[in-house]
Amino acid sequence: MREYELRSMNLKALGYRNYKDYLSSNLWRKLRSKAIKTSGGLCCCCGEAATEVHHRNYDLETLKNGGDFSLVPLCNACHHLAEFDTNGRKRTTQQANRFLDGVKGAGRFNTRRYLEEHNKAWKKAQRKSSQKRKRKNKDKSWTSF
Ligand SMILES: [Zn+2]
Repeated sequence: MREYELRSMNLKALGYRNYKDYLSSNLWRKLRSKAIKTSGGLCCCCGEAATEVHHRNYDLETLKNGGDFSLVPLCNACHHLAEFDTNGRKRTTQQANRFLDGVKGAGRFNTRRYLEEHNKAWKKAQRKSSQKRKRKNKDKSWTSF
């Protein structure tokens, strides 16, 4: 994954061994709390308490100074929603940003309802596909007789 190679290159340039090293640094602690303050401590998606900060990119400037609106305060649920698609696959940073751009700003986004709706849709889809699979297997065993 290219973005993570760039991230590790930039972190090395700043003198950090890896991302974990950076996340436990005083610099990150400072940037993180500054970012959370800009949103009044609220998640940019749903308006609940922000506990995490999303990186819109891993540019040198962002890692060093927080960049220009590159750090997005989020609650845990919204961060998860931004980072993973409904199939549980990790989104790329661009995909995550696109997702956030769609909902961010108003603080009126109801993450919980969104998750419930999506989980339901996802469960339904899974149920359907497993039924199909069962039917297929049945057909197979039937034709093999
Ligand atoms: Zn949220």
